[in-house]
Amino acid sequence: MECGFVRQHFHDLISEEIDDEHRERIYEHLSTCERCRAHVENALAFRSRMQELMQTSAPPGLVSSIIQLSEKG
Ligand SMILES: [Zn+2]
Repeated sequence: MECGFVRQHFHDLISEEIDDEHRERIYEHLSTCERCRAHVENALAFRSRMQELMQTSAPPGLVSSIIQLSEKG
């Protein structure tokens, strides 16, 4: 149930377009679910690495296409 909630709001969380309420609920779940936590941590690490490489703030469309790529791998 909660894993589904995390998955449902995953893109919003990564792109930081998420409600505080949803984010709190997700992080609460992450503290108990290792699988979701690994998934989110990987995506966040990947995103910040890309941002470092680009040295500028990426346009939102680019970030979400990077996320989609990272999910395929
Ligand atoms: Zn989970």
